[in-house]
Amino acid sequence: MHRWLLSLILFSAVLPVLAQTEEHTCKELIYHDQRFNPSKPLFKSTAGHNIDIIYDRLEFDIDPRFNEMSGVVTTYFKALGSTVSTISLDLSDTLMVNKVSTRGVDLNFSHQNNLLIITLEKPINTGQTDSVRIEYSGDPTNNIYQSYAREKSRTNDPHPIVWTISEPYGAYMWWPCKDGLTDKVDSLDMFVKIPKGNKAAGNGILVDTVSLNDSQVVYHWKHRYPIATYLVATAVTNYEEFTDVVYFKNGDTLPILNYIFPEYVPYGRNPAKETVRIMKMYDSLFGPYPFIKEKYGHAQFLRGGGMEHQTMTFMVDWNFGLVAHELAHHWFGDKVTCGSWSDLWLNEGFATYCALLSYDILLSHDDFIANNLGSRSRAFENTSLPIYVFDTLNVSRLFSSQLTYNKAAQMLHMLRWILGDDDFYSGLRAYLEDSRLAYGFARSEDLQFHLEQVSGRDLNYFFDEWLYGEAYPELTAEWQNTDGGVQVRIKQKSISPTVSFFHLPIELKVENASEIKYFRIEPQIADTTFFLPTNFVADSLFIDPNYWILTKNSVFRLDEISKGIKLIPNPATDEITVYFTNEKLKEIRVYNSVGQLISVTQVGAGSNQQTVDLNPMVPGIYMIECTGNSGRIARSEFIRQ
Ligand SMILES: [Zn+2]
Repeated sequence: MHRWLLSLILFSAVLPVLAQTEEHTCKELIYHDQRFNPSKPLFKSTAGHNIDIIYDRLEFDIDPRFNEMSGVVTTYFKALGSTVSTISLDLSDTLMVNKVSTRGVDLNFSHQNNLLIITLEKPINTGQTDSVRIEYSGDPTNNIYQSYAREKSRTNDPHPIVWTISEPYGAYMWWPCKDGLTDKVDSLDMFVKIPKGNKAAGNGILVDTVSLNDSQVVYHWKHRYPIATYLVATAVTNYEEFTDVVYFKNGDTLPILNYIFPEYVPYGRNPAKETVRIMKMYDSLFGPYPFIKEKYGHAQFLRGGGMEHQTMTFMVDWNFGLVAHELAHHWFGDKVTCGSWSDLWLNEGFATYCALLSYDILLSHDDFIANNLGSRSRAFENTSLPIYVFDTLNVSRLFSSQLTYNKAAQMLHMLRWILGDDDFYSGLRAYLEDSRLAYGFARSEDLQFHLEQVSGRDLNYFFDEWLYGEAYPELTAEWQNTDGGVQVRIKQKSISPTVSFFHLPIELKVENASEIKYFRIEPQIADTTFFLPTNFVADSLFIDPNYWILTKNSVFRLDEISKGIKLIPNPATDEITVYFTNEKLKEIRVYNSVGQLISVTQVGAGSNQQTVDLNPMVPGIYMIECTGNSGRIARSEFIRQ
């Protein structure tokens, strides 16, 4: 899931602007809490421990002009453990169960405390199968999760719309199910009866649309892959549709079906084509699209962001980062689903990181750097909680953009840096292909296991520090030129109350006007000195120039002070202070990495220090040039974070 801070009204008002500017996503990833009121009790499933759901036949009667809907859900299941005489399913008390039957025989049931308990016609034993048919109706729109939502119209179109979005705890608000992370429905058919003039989006393949009369049509969707309860979805409005096709190298083809608001077609048609490139990229990185025998698709809805409903993502628009995020979930989230909401980062951290990879591989490294810096700044914001979620009933915490999305994405980026691309991607493929996990559920330790297996490394320390630990370290480098190289002292200060030292390999870049060398060091204690054999006299040294690790860094050049220039802090965010130790400053000029003059600061008489405002500058590497009163010029580089 990927939510933005856009309200419905704002969305409608800015629709064309969004399309024209292709605004990107990091700032919009902030979890929007409007759906959840923490003062109300949240739901946790208690249903169905004695059965394994095999198949669901879902029949919904939905008219987007009205809040009320009705449904007939026929659930096929297998008995687990012991003799089963009653089964229980999650279903909101706001819906009315009209009848429960099997093979034409009415069954006894009770429905209270959001639990539907059904007495079977006769007990069944372990491994035996049975089914129940549940007829129900009501108004599912008035629920705290807004998991069944209706809007009377859209700003530029008078048609009403209904959509569902069940993650994490909302499925039982609109259909009887096992609402949890232990049992996927092995396959399903969904029949959605709707007024003519609408289309109904769904999971899997559209088998047919059957006209019932002058006013009603039934959309029949068939899905033959296991699916987590929260990924079952439908949406109904007057969609237009278009299809792109992916041609894979091995000869497979895959349709990408888009259900789009008619008024949005001019804005969505071209951006939607990017899905093909992203699909091919994930196919090469992570293995075949997990639902290759069916389809991929998008259906537009009015909630900010998107939701990775299996084979049919719902989303607000076709923004590149959003498309990449939701498609990535089909490997990380849909094929392999987090086995507890505590492990939600296995869904969201991967989707966030995969979107960053998409920028890098399909757009440009500059796009990656810009978006990665945004992701890092979000990840730095929360220093008091770990990525792993201990309080899963706190839904705001669960979907924290800072932790579950961005810090988790940075954690994956660090794993890639530590393991190298070969082991990192091999480990991910092994995780996705593990028969215990594929089309099922995984916990954090399952991912750790596969990364350890493929790399031969013990990663306990890393998961302890980054998944279960809090915050991040601050690094300081003090360096100077010495014979044949550079001497650098690296100090680490952990600002985490839970991690005293973060074990990280650190990339250092050393350069002068004509030469650059990279070094990889791996301090094991908080204060270590290294010799870097450069064989040239360096002008500057950078910690982690490619932003592999989640650290805040400062660099001090010890022999620079005698040369007369010192920049604090470096890297810097809002401002940087220039010290000119041997004489008074006259003027400070700042140039960007391609040599364009960005700012000129005249220094008041008699001062040898001056603060420069960095707020107008975009993140990147800059050169600062100081002119002293004598006319002496000194230059040094700094990083604007
Ligand atoms: Zn997501």
